[in-house]
Amino acid sequence: MISEPMMNKLNEQVTNELAAEHGYLSIAGALDRMGLRVLSAHFFRQAEEERSHAMKLLNYILEVGGRVRLGAIGEPRNSYDGAEDCVKHALESEMTVTRQINGIMALAEGESDFATRSFLKYFVDEQVEEVSSMQNLLDLIRLAGPDNLLLVEDRIERGNHQSNGSPR
Ligand code: MG
Repeated sequence: MISEPMMNKLNEQVTNELAAEHGYLSIAGALDRMGLRVLSAHFFRQAEEERSHAMKLLNYILEVGGRVRLGAIGEPRNSYDGAEDCVKHALESEMTVTRQINGIMALAEGESDFATRSFLKYFVDEQVEEVSSMQNLLDLIRLAGPDNLLLVEDRIERGNHQSNGSPR
């Protein structure tokens, strides 16, 4: 039901999402070491979400009769210079994923692959939220400054660190 190039792209994206999971686990570990347990837990949850994205893609590949062919996951960055650096890196990672998703969407449009286009809509919408939510977190960390990160953690715990008030 899908073309060979589309199958390859979707498989690549499974690996990309797993790489994002890997990156977030590394960030969560670094934040825990800084004593920022709430921020750390936030990134452990983000990591789980990336895994669920990978599974969603993988299940779609199978659903449309494709083959699963996974690539290698590279070593994530393993050293960070404070919480702001962690979240800055996470934002860059979300922007990269957004470009990747847009690339697959462009292929689906070019191929008039309406099924995949419809399937990918979730990911397009998800990336708008992910980038916005990470940008909000970065803004909050910068506003608080390095000495007031516990205030950031308080806000995350209360679930009102997002501009629209919805906890993620
Ligand atoms: Mg993702």
